[in-house]
Order: sequence, then C-alpha cells, then structure tokens
Amino acid sequence: MAMRKPMIAGNWKMNGSFELVTELSSAINKVKSAKIDVVVFPPFPLISLLQQQGITVGSQTVSEHNPGAYTGEVDAQLIKQCGAHYTLVGHSERRSIYGESNQRVADKFARAQQVGLIPVLCVGESEQQRVTGQTESVVAAQIDAVIDKLGLAALKDSVIAYEPVWAIGTGKTASPEQAQAVHKFIRDKIAASDSDLAQGLTILYGGSVNEENSEFLFAQPDIDGGLIGGASLKADSFTAICESA
Ligand code: PEP
Repeated sequence: MAMRKPMIAGNWKMNGSFELVTELSSAINKVKSAKIDVVVFPPFPLISLLQQQGITVGSQTVSEHNPGAYTGEVDAQLIKQCGAHYTLVGHSERRSIYGESNQRVADKFARAQQVGLIPVLCVGESEQQRVTGQTESVVAAQIDAVIDKLGLAALKDSVIAYEPVWAIGTGKTASPEQAQAVHKFIRDKIAASDSDLAQGLTILYGGSVNEENSEFLFAQPDIDGGLIGGASLKADSFTAICESA
C-alpha cells in the first residue's frame, strides 16, 4: 500500500438502527488505530449519533443543489454540520436505481467539496460492460466527468472507490489480480497528468469484500483499503476486515 494510509469504509446502505450504532461503534472503537482510517456511511438519521460515539462518519449521497425547494434531499452543509467528514457520490445503486448520470455525480462531487466534505467517488463497470471489454472506458468516463467539471486537482481531496457492479452484494468478488489491474489503470491514468497526485490518491476496492478475501485484496500494491457493504453490518466481520488492512 505504498505511503498511503489504508482506509476501511462501511456502507450500511438502507440498514441500521440506534441499536446497531451502539453495537458497531463499540466494536470499531476497539480496533481503531492511528495506522488506518475507519469510516462508516450510515443512513442520514444516524450520522450525528455515530459521530458522537467517536466514529468518523460520511453520508451515502448528497444533494448537488444549494439549500432550497428540493423536498426529500439533504444539503451538504447540513450533513457536515451533523458531523460527517465524507460523502459517497455515484454509488452504483444511486446510478442504477435513481438514474444518476456521470454529470450529476460530478455535480454532487463539486457540492461536497464546496462545503469541505471529502467525496468518495464510486466507479465501476457492469458485467456486460466487462465481458464486452469496456471496463477501462467506462471507469475513465466516470472519472473524466469530474475532471472535466472541476479540473484534475479536485481529485486531491477525494477518494476513489472501484466497485465492479457485478461484485456488489453478489458474493462474486473480483480476484485480487482483476481488482489490481483496474486500480493500476486508474492510478496510471491520473499519473499521466500528475504523478504526485496519483501516488497520494487513496483508491478503495468494493464488491463482496469479507474477512476471508480482504487480506489478499489489500495486499495488492494499488489497493488502499475497501468499501464494505454487507460485511460492515456485522461487528465480527467488519473488525476482522479492519485488522487485515
Ligand atoms: C457496497 O455497498 O458498496 C458494497 C461493496 O457492497 P457489498 O460489500 O455487500 O458487495
């Protein structure tokens, strides 16, 4: 993992409760160390609560708009005020279920940075795109939408999460070699314009990571940690994954 600090992020999706906050925060507080960043992305109503338990927190999405008449949306500044440091943008479930385009994801990325939230830009190809050889062009277009809007330097205060859609919630993890190849592609693409930025950029892998496969994924040179869905809801699994980073 070179000079980059490993990061383990738990995406609770639309799961969680006050009880889970108590259980997970006490487990996470036991494994926390200066050597890794552990971040939890709970549903909005649990952000403050988790933060008060000493956990570093992020939101699962953010509105691209300034405050106003957008019923049901949550403003970036308010998310920050609730104690969040990060936000996911462009998670594949947001892209596929809620129709978020690359452009809209770039707008969310911009709004997050405007208020000082660190965006975790989720990218990844579908199974169909992989078998038809489009993995690199799909991932490049997802990143380029942000670069075109904000310039390459915007990636400096961000994290990228490579999450092949076919591996999310399916139990079908990318092999360490498959994941490493895409992580290297992303880092090389950025290094072509700014090698220091590329070397400092945290790139997480996500997609059916569990306590059995995490060690092998995290041992790859360009994989700096993981974005964990299902396994982040179980204290034993999540802490074991943190310990393997
Ligand atoms: C995710 O939600 O980003 C994810 C990777 O889920 P899972 O670990 O369950 O595949």
